Amino acid sequence: MDEFELIRRFFDRRVLRPDVVTGIGDDGAVLKPEPGRDQVQVIDSLVEGVHFPADSNAADIGYRAVAVNLSDIAAMGARPRWMTLALTMPQKDVQWLTDFASGLFEAAAEFDVALVGGDTTSGDAVVATVHVTGDVEEGGAVLRSGAKVGDTLFVTGTLGDAAAGLELLGRGEPDNPLVRRFLRPMARIEAGRSLVGRASAAIDVSDGLIGDLKKLLEASGVGAELDLECVPISDALRSYFDETERLRFALTGGDDYELCFTAAPDAVGNMADITAIGRITADERLVCRRHGDIVEYDDSGYRHFQ
Ligand code: ADP
Ligand code: MG
Repeated sequence: MDEFELIRRFFDRRVLRPDVVTGIGDDGAVLKPEPGRDQVQVIDSLVEGVHFPADSNAADIGYRAVAVNLSDIAAMGARPRWMTLALTMPQKDVQWLTDFASGLFEAAAEFDVALVGGDTTSGDAVVATVHVTGDVEEGGAVLRSGAKVGDTLFVTGTLGDAAAGLELLGRGEPDNPLVRRFLRPMARIEAGRSLVGRASAAIDVSDGLIGDLKKLLEASGVGAELDLECVPISDALRSYFDETERLRFALTGGDDYELCFTAAPDAVGNMADITAIGRITADERLVCRRHGDIVEYDDSGYRHFQ
């Protein structure tokens, strides 16, 4: 199977959309942006052995390669439009490619994003790099840098599930809701879209809440107080792990792909599935509180100051 045959067989799906003039098959894709909208470009690579275990199911890798990018699109308040794929792999395995493409196109269909080009190369390990272009109302993109003193700090969904799932995968646990959260991250496109005009700043939680929140605070030149007892924990996480472990997964585990955002207290309206977890302060530090008391947090848990 030569490269041309491989692309035709696994990746060249007919795209019938007015915003794709020419897709896969020419030297470049020709796209038609909607007038009056800003473009948002994101790219992320998944490297075998670094971002997923070497024996992962190829459909999950394909899905995840798209989903992690869509999470960045969501955090900007944008909607996804087009994507390209650079795929490196050790050999052309028909079953692997079939599964990878099925996962990739599943995510593409779910979020209405068209694969319009890519590159295929051989190399020692699987590397899947996806680049997504999205768009957003002119001037409407939600940045990391807009948080204001007095804003409320929110997060979507629940935290810690994916990191717990990865740990369970490592222990050889069979399929369960936590493992699914790691393998099939949910891109919060809809929540992201409703942040436009409401949120003052946002970031997606890919590296753990504390780490990602600190990036948002630094970009905004502000601090925050985080109420540990308010951090949303799923029933599944509660049923598998004790409080110290839950907090560790939720605060410093990665791969949740939820959105952490700030907004004026009355700006979120009836947004579904969000939890207030703290507030923005002028003091450029992150302070953790538990039921009001200031505590010190690290991976072994929280401690009250004496
Ligand atoms: P070129 O030599 O001009 O770079 P290629 O032979 O690499 O072209 O690719 C031919 C066409 O197939 C191009 O439209 C390219 O965007 C597309 N393509 C290549 N690899 C992939 C892939 N893995 N997924 C989607 N499209 C791909
Ligand atoms: Mg060319």
